[in-house]
Amino acid sequence: MDIAVIGSNMVDLISYITRMPAEGETIEAPDFALGCGGKGANQAVAAARLGSEVLMVTRVGDDLFAANTVANFEANGIDTTFVLPTVGTSGVAPIFVDEQSRNSIIIVKGANASLTPADLEAAEAEIARCRLIVVQLEIPIETVHAAIDLAVRLDVPILLNPAPATHGLDYARVAQCEYFVPNETELATLTGMPAGTTNEITAAAAALIEKGCRNVIVTLGSRGVLWVSTDGEVLIPQDNPVEAVDTTGAGDAFIGCFAHEVTHGSTVHDALVAANAYAANSVTKRGTQTSYASREDFTAWRRA
Ligand code: AMP
Repeated sequence: MDIAVIGSNMVDLISYITRMPAEGETIEAPDFALGCGGKGANQAVAAARLGSEVLMVTRVGDDLFAANTVANFEANGIDTTFVLPTVGTSGVAPIFVDEQSRNSIIIVKGANASLTPADLEAAEAEIARCRLIVVQLEIPIETVHAAIDLAVRLDVPILLNPAPATHGLDYARVAQCEYFVPNETELATLTGMPAGTTNEITAAAAALIEKGCRNVIVTLGSRGVLWVSTDGEVLIPQDNPVEAVDTTGAGDAFIGCFAHEVTHGSTVHDALVAANAYAANSVTKRGTQTSYASREDFTAWRRA
């Protein structure tokens, strides 16, 4: 096993609308789509499509969405031994997209709120065999903290993607992460420092390095990524010229590819260059997981 993803899964329920209904009003939507999402699941799928062996540790509900989620993991070759059933609803995201592509999203965490530290203990033997643990913040914060404690105890490096930015993250534990990967907004929220200009982002990331973080990797949207470590900072610009069609899930594509690369012999720098390219490829296509290329397609696209 290469990577253990400890995190969320969601079912996107996307209604394509002409306008938002007023209070008390019922309107017809011309179209609807169901998609698999959730930051944990997205990152797992991206890494698996690139060829990583991925163990998913997550919870699904006892509703009709659960079987669809498990089938999606299996279709992507992801180990579902620890896709655990919970009484109640799965995580769902009703999404409304209007004709101008503006979206309104509601997140119902559902079963994701029931992923406990005890679930991680149950999966400990399998997690111990992985070369990297990947975790985000769509699960309870005590489970995120338990994941970091487990990584330290097992001596497995851990990547923490602090998304969505949540207060209450224990910085003593963040300092134990091998890779801390926020975007600009998350970096600003989590540090309480401005993160608009490159200098501000560097200063905010450097503050985390001073607290003990080893690698702070800040994704910068179409500008690429800034990597700050004890050795200094390196800006890896987005040098893949693409026309962005849909940037949803680009951050998850980036992390899935980075995780795949660092567990398959790449240096951090080379993994970041590849992750920039993989995320750039994903923004040229609609949807989230539907925009994640297979290894073959990604390799052919990079050569072209
Ligand atoms: P973000 O979460 O918006 O910072 O994006 C994550 C990563 O996706 C970035 O570091 C880029 O590698 C890539 N990315 C995001 N938006 C774009 C875009 N418009 N064009 C090219 N690459 C992008």
